[in-house]
Amino acid sequence: MAKILLVEDEASLQATIAYNLKKAGYEIATASDGETALALAEETPPDLVVLDIMLPNMDGLEVCRNLRRSSGVPIIILTARDSEIDRVVGLEIGADDYLTKPFSMRELIARVKALLRRRELTEQDLVARTQAVANVITIDTLSIDVDAYRVRLGEHDINLKPKEFELLLHLVNHRGIVCPTRQLLGEVWGYDYYGDSRTLAVHIHGLREKLDAHPGGSRLIETVRGVGYRFSG
Ligand code: CA
Repeated sequence: MAKILLVEDEASLQATIAYNLKKAGYEIATASDGETALALAEETPPDLVVLDIMLPNMDGLEVCRNLRRSSGVPIIILTARDSEIDRVVGLEIGADDYLTKPFSMRELIARVKALLRRRELTEQDLVARTQAVANVITIDTLSIDVDAYRVRLGEHDINLKPKEFELLLHLVNHRGIVCPTRQLLGEVWGYDYYGDSRTLAVHIHGLREKLDAHPGGSRLIETVRGVGYRFSG
């Protein structure tokens, strides 16, 4: 059973989230402030953290930075304002995903599942590599041969440019999770790349056009306005 640390100071919201996550089969630890959260995380490392930004004393961003110093645990930020989201989910603060209040419990649970699955996939991927299993990712009719740089959608070969391929691979590896523009630029073009988001938009456009030409290809890549992109296949 995955352990989730929930950090939220609004008692009723904390109770609602805890109830729903428990019902979904997770083990929950709760904290109402940052100091308690960090102490709990150190005592029993969680598999995932749901973290409110607005907390008394130490705010959620500070808690997130602190957690990131020692752990790669998936972190979902809860926020009432989405003006800072790019910074929060991007490289600076290091959260993996966010939800803007008010959000539905169904949405929260979907994000939790996606992040935990990604972690599981990463672990499986490591096992697969050590066993020298062919490195092919298959999602429905889409298959990506990572070593051969080949992509197939149904019966069709999709000829992608190297950067389009890397973009697709990064999005697929973060399936169901929003990938912020800056993170994509950093991962695909390198941290020393000083290009702007138009470079990314052009490549996303090219990638989409090639995928959309075949059945099942449209809407695989979703735009999350003002933040980035999400693979929703
Ligand atoms: Ca709060």
